[in-house]
Amino acid sequence: MPTAYFSHPACRRHDMGGGHPECPQRLDAIEDWLLASSIDLALERHEAEPARLADLELAHTHRYVAELSELLQGLAASGESRAVDPDTVAGPHTWAAALRAAGAAVQATDLVIDGKADNAFCAVRPPGHHATRDQSMGFCFFNNVAVAARHALDVRGLKRVAIVDFDVHHGNGTEDIIAGDERVLMVSIFQDPLYPYSGAVPKGENMVNLPIPAYTRGGEVREMIEAQWMPALEAFRPEMIFISAGFDAHREDDLGQLGLVEADYEWITQRVMSVAERHAKGRIVSCLEGGYALGALARSVGVHLRTLAGI
Ligand SMILES: [Zn+2]
Repeated sequence: MPTAYFSHPACRRHDMGGGHPECPQRLDAIEDWLLASSIDLALERHEAEPARLADLELAHTHRYVAELSELLQGLAASGESRAVDPDTVAGPHTWAAALRAAGAAVQATDLVIDGKADNAFCAVRPPGHHATRDQSMGFCFFNNVAVAARHALDVRGLKRVAIVDFDVHHGNGTEDIIAGDERVLMVSIFQDPLYPYSGAVPKGENMVNLPIPAYTRGGEVREMIEAQWMPALEAFRPEMIFISAGFDAHREDDLGQLGLVEADYEWITQRVMSVAERHAKGRIVSCLEGGYALGALARSVGVHLRTLAGI
């Protein structure tokens, strides 16, 4: 069965202003590389549908969803933009993009659970892993992965799911949402100290947080993952695995100072797939988070997808 690839033109139209690293060109770079490398031929493309408010409320408070939807729909109507935190700008196209980004994750989850795809990747913006239950921050509005994980549990009836986060930044939003939810195991790596300056002390027993000093290379990161993530994932036996796939721990990415390269992303993807194959019928839904060096981002998504697709 194919690897599903979810995106939507609305995700490209969300624009936080000239010079912002979380830019529409990130998706262009990925698309160009998939076409040039022929990886595109192994993927089954899907246009994401908008998330339903009920799904967003599986991970966010009713009040947050109501207030953010009012703000973003207002900006869509007026054509104005507004900063919601020093790094994060909502504009006229943010509402549509945020709904499609979360919708992609939910739809991909349904497709994989229904056995219509082996696994899926969501090439979406805005990213999600810094969005907490009730706060937008760090380029994120809705927590796409947390919404999808809760959908798998609360709507589709799975009993245990794992979230794997290899973005260079700590997934504080995901941790805020799922800390203490014993149905979810979250394993992550992140550079420490680095924005958002959290994660060194996990908020719940269902977290395996690996803070990593700047300038660590891939070999050491792999050893830590093998020693800390893998036994926890094996013991947890997840029925499905979600990946917060940020590629800003790449050596070429200026938003962090870690030293991962394409081969490391291939290795991480393989290790996650091995757990999924043993316990989860191979079920993986991976969602784009960070990754700001356009060439490195495109090549890294390429090896991630090639590995997921088994080509
Ligand atoms: Zn990041």
